[in-house]
Amino acid sequence: QVRVRFPPSPTGLLTVGNIRSALFNWAFARHYGGKLVLRIEDTDQSRNTPEALQYTLESLRWLGLNWDEGPEVGGEFGPYLQSERMDLYADVVTKLLDAGKAYHCYCSQEELDQRREAARTAGQHSGYDGHCRNLTEEQIQAYVDEGRRPVVRLRMPDRPIVFDDLVRGEITFLPENLGDYVLVRANGYPLYPLVNPVDDALMEITHVLRGEDLLPSTPRQIALYEALAEIGIGNGRTPRFGHLPFVMGEGNKKLSKRDPGSGLGEYMERGFLPEGLLNYLALLGWSIAEDRDVFTMDEMIEAFDIRKVNANAARFDPKKCEAINAAHMRLLPADEFAQRMIPFLAKAGVLPVEPSADQLAVLRAAVPLVQERMNTLSESVDMLGFLFVDEAAFALDPDAAAKVLTGDAGAVLEASAKALTDVEWTTEAIEAALREALIDGLGLKPKNAFGPVRVAISGRRISPPLFESLELLGREKSLHRLNQARA
Ligand code: GLU
Repeated sequence: QVRVRFPPSPTGLLTVGNIRSALFNWAFARHYGGKLVLRIEDTDQSRNTPEALQYTLESLRWLGLNWDEGPEVGGEFGPYLQSERMDLYADVVTKLLDAGKAYHCYCSQEELDQRREAARTAGQHSGYDGHCRNLTEEQIQAYVDEGRRPVVRLRMPDRPIVFDDLVRGEITFLPENLGDYVLVRANGYPLYPLVNPVDDALMEITHVLRGEDLLPSTPRQIALYEALAEIGIGNGRTPRFGHLPFVMGEGNKKLSKRDPGSGLGEYMERGFLPEGLLNYLALLGWSIAEDRDVFTMDEMIEAFDIRKVNANAARFDPKKCEAINAAHMRLLPADEFAQRMIPFLAKAGVLPVEPSADQLAVLRAAVPLVQERMNTLSESVDMLGFLFVDEAAFALDPDAAAKVLTGDAGAVLEASAKALTDVEWTTEAIEAALREALIDGLGLKPKNAFGPVRVAISGRRISPPLFESLELLGREKSLHRLNQARA
């Protein structure tokens, strides 16, 4: 059975890169009917907070990337927080030391730096030189007597490490580039290169799909896996690896968590649909078919093939991300579209969290006017705010007023109010009445005729279609605003 994992370090931020990894693991697990394990890599207590953990879980829930084992859902390979697995790591390290797979290294930082520098000058490889690999009892005692505290290093095999990457094909690492590396710090703190593969082994992970930035640690992890297998830890099977391509941002530099557009929070606030964001992130390295960008998560699960992921760096394009989201917005049924706008309208104070039946009816009726025009849900505030705001709080955008409510505008508004006073309140009748009064009557061009009306009733220069907007706003408010705007 396929078992994959998503192992975030909960430091309070999920980036698009993290989410792409989570998504590909999720799609892979779902495609094969396997399990997705959520493991929290929170050994660094200074950087992790309970709030950040909650935020990570909520984010994954918001995205709809459900996990089969992990926090909140449990599972037989727990605990799933690394901070609760410290005894386990200590036990594994003891076993590795006892079996001679790892050893204590007493070199001080200065000594290491000096020898590394000397090796570099001599044109040699500058990784750890194996100084403490084969210390005698006496040498060890001498270091201990000096009061030195050792780190623990893995004894790397003296042969190339070769593996078939699911994305990049065969990759070979030569032993001279793979020094014995540190598993445990001198203060006893277990490091990522230890705990991550140990947990992958104990949790019987079959496939490790993660970012290309972690590729250099893979041969070391494979060596550790093999050592663990030899001492009977885990099920003895090294997982397959697949390294997902880098995501490049502006200026063809790796997207960093400081770049705008890299953090999930931004997308949640702007009102992206989770399915729209995920669809876009899926395109960072994968595609469902040529000439096809928009698909559902069910379609992705059905079609996903890690072997088809492209090894070349992917470019993060915020405009395309928005366009893909917009495409998903168009696909929503009208009632659902209305429901999904409510939290954004409520947050902006435009609607109560639980709108009245009347408000809901107006909102639902407004959907056809805006669904094709919005890229994100938060745009509903600017688009539809004028329909719900109290008359007392209604205000014109000063810039729009200054540009549009000039010259003849007073006459336009007066004629409009007059024309709308007795007209039947339907889109068609409103349109006919305004055309007659403004275009035929005042001899105006449509732009000069309807611009002032739009600003007067919506407060803005850009609004949903005008006649429908008037109809939804109602006669009373429309007339009131037309008259107010003249004052
Ligand atoms: N906790 C690591 C990270 O967030 C996990 C990396 C991995 O997938 O092995 O970068």
